[in-house]
Amino acid sequence: MAVITYKCPNCGGGLVFDPKSQQFKCEYCLSGFSEEELKARTGAAEEEYKAAPSGTDSARAEAAMMVYSCPSCGAEIVAEETTAATSCYYCHNPVVLSGKLDGAYEPDSVIPFEVDQKTARERFKEWIGKKRYVPGDFYSPEQMKRLEGIYYPYWTFGCTVEGSLKAEGIRNKDLVAVSGYVDVETSRFAVELEGEMQIGHVARAALKKADRQLSERVLPFDMEKTRPFKAGYLSGFRAERRDRGQEEFSEEVESEVRSFAREALLGNVSGYDQVRVQQQTENIKDKSWSYCLFPVWIMTYQRRKDGKMYYFAMNGQTGKICGMLPADGKKLAVLFMSVFLPIFLLLLIGGYLI
Ligand SMILES: [Zn+2]
Ligand SMILES: [Zn+2]
Repeated sequence: MAVITYKCPNCGGGLVFDPKSQQFKCEYCLSGFSEEELKARTGAAEEEYKAAPSGTDSARAEAAMMVYSCPSCGAEIVAEETTAATSCYYCHNPVVLSGKLDGAYEPDSVIPFEVDQKTARERFKEWIGKKRYVPGDFYSPEQMKRLEGIYYPYWTFGCTVEGSLKAEGIRNKDLVAVSGYVDVETSRFAVELEGEMQIGHVARAALKKADRQLSERVLPFDMEKTRPFKAGYLSGFRAERRDRGQEEFSEEVESEVRSFAREALLGNVSGYDQVRVQQQTENIKDKSWSYCLFPVWIMTYQRRKDGKMYYFAMNGQTGKICGMLPADGKKLAVLFMSVFLPIFLLLLIGGYLI
């Protein structure tokens, strides 16, 4: 298993990805390097260290932990099975356990952090300042240190939906006769609608231990800013790899896409007092799944007296805050929070019946 630390070509210090400058920064001599510069000097920059996990099988099975040795100081680095980037507890050098992201676990893309730790802390303080009944420990200086930048794994789904709708539209018109009686004139219309819709980036959290509510509430991310995956972005943060497959979500996501398309088609039928749906179809094609790492600032706090969990999570790209104080058990209604690109082609409406 390869353990990588990105080293500063100038002084050999550990390089971390800096959200503010979108460069790789040395924490020691404060040099900054763009991806290209780093690549040009790559021999010096990337120190790869081949080390097999040294934990015994039984110990590993017990805690699902793996032990690596730090390329900088040789100390043991303990990481959970899904953890792909962390830092050495002793020398604080960032390490990327790149072997964890090999093969099927290699993400298709990554959105690098744009919100840095300083900003994240400020936003957290601001946010907590507006909350009442919060245990003081939740925002103690000690706890603030645990505000952690994590790349979480997500699956995103995209597809094209061909939808059709046949319905009867009914219009009622009151006719007041001379006698004072009210007659109602009813007109019926045949409504036929066909449409094609592009749906992109329906996201699902792909890590079992991640609180799904929490990690899906920080959505959406600006998918335009997705970049091809490179392990360097992880340096200085924690990163988790996925432990859920796309097949776990396909049924649920497709059924959501279907009902979204159904609603959208129906929403295009207007001007009637009543609409009776007779037939509706949705055909999903061009399905594609993509495995991405998204940046999230996260802090969890467990109150000592009753074990209640408190959460704070912030989208590491947009700064959108999702906090739960404490976590309420409420289910999210519709998780359709990602980017939509609905393109409708209305082919036919009309036809007078009566
Ligand atoms: Zn340096
Ligand atoms: Zn170390």
